Amino acid sequence: MSAAERSAAETAAIGAAAGAAEALGAGAAGRRGVLAPRGAPIELRGIVKRYGAMTAVDAVSLAIAAGEFVSFLGPSGSGKTTTLLMIAGFVAPNAGAILLGGADITRLPPYRRNIGMVYQSYALFPHMTVARNIAFPLRMRGMRKAEIRRRTERVLGLVRLEGFEDRLPNQLSGGQQQRVALARALVFEPPLLLMDEPLGALDKKLREELQVEIKRIQREIRSTVVYVTHDQEEALSMSDRVVVMNRGRIEQVGSPSELYERPRTRFVADFLGAANFLEAEIIRRDGTALLRTRNGTLLEATLPEGAVFGGSALVAIRPERVRLGAASPLPEGWRAARVVESSYHGNTQRFQVALDSGDRLTAFRPNTGEPPAPPGTAVAVRWEARDAWVIPQREDA
Ligand code: ADP
Ligand code: MG
Repeated sequence: MSAAERSAAETAAIGAAAGAAEALGAGAAGRRGVLAPRGAPIELRGIVKRYGAMTAVDAVSLAIAAGEFVSFLGPSGSGKTTTLLMIAGFVAPNAGAILLGGADITRLPPYRRNIGMVYQSYALFPHMTVARNIAFPLRMRGMRKAEIRRRTERVLGLVRLEGFEDRLPNQLSGGQQQRVALARALVFEPPLLLMDEPLGALDKKLREELQVEIKRIQREIRSTVVYVTHDQEEALSMSDRVVVMNRGRIEQVGSPSELYERPRTRFVADFLGAANFLEAEIIRRDGTALLRTRNGTLLEATLPEGAVFGGSALVAIRPERVRLGAASPLPEGWRAARVVESSYHGNTQRFQVALDSGDRLTAFRPNTGEPPAPPGTAVAVRWEARDAWVIPQREDA
């Protein structure tokens, strides 16, 4: 499915502008949603969503602190959007509970949750100016004109769109439209902001710019943010914590560096960037482990705390931690290898090398301007034991 189709499907699922209007509090005129100033903590307790025989979200439990920026990261179909829609109130869980600011909101309709939401498709009202789009949730709440004006001006400044008040959405670029959608989600100062692939429709450069902007805004308003993305770099660079989703379940939760440096499963190691995997037998363990691959390569690797191991394990090594050097004379502590393939990536050079045992590794190194060693070149290879990480083999893997 293309990004546009997916976004269209998602928009249809929530009822297009009607859904957006509901999320923005259209039904809440004169009524109060959950009262929680600034960022509120949110807790998911074993939430489940089934569609027929298919379990889209399978007992997801997670506590998110007030003001925290948490990303749900995972491949398409892993249950990210469904989880977000349950938090927003557009999809009712089959089981479990959702707490916002300590209050159980599981059965509360969306417009009473007071949650801001931004989608990949901007869902702006096409016939309304920027200012009216942004003010919409405030008008629906019956706020006074002077206050609406004050708040609209403030968020326009926050998203850096001063001077664009009177434009219509079709007179704006994609990035500007998404800023309007963000302003509209922020203007009523929601304690929780949900964002579902908000930058998915933008090109890479603009996406990176807006990532920085969203972080700056979140720091300023101290809102709690739950952010959905399938882009690992985006999740790693923006989040306090990342939740890796796989087939409706949480695979691992941790800070960006915990997940990247210490993945507990092959799925996490693989999804969060490139990794070398070597299947090996553990032949000795004390502080670290000594392992031997089928081809006979001996290597030392770090053991995760508290994990239970059988005899076999997978060793993960990030390609940028594999160092390459000159082959002769072979320096102490280095291994002899040969270049199998090399490729040029602008900022990096990438190599596939074969150790003398036959085991293959990928190595990245910064492009310093030297021509990459061609296939067949003898090289020396080295990595540190702290950069080789043991992943226990699960029975179900
Ligand atoms: P993600 O956002 O991670 O791509 P989704 O939460 O959209 O994943 O979907 C999770 C799973 O649930 C997918 O297999 C998807 O096809 C299915 N699903 C989502 N919404 C519906 C629906 N309304 N009806 C039936 N199946 C659905
Ligand atoms: Mg999705």
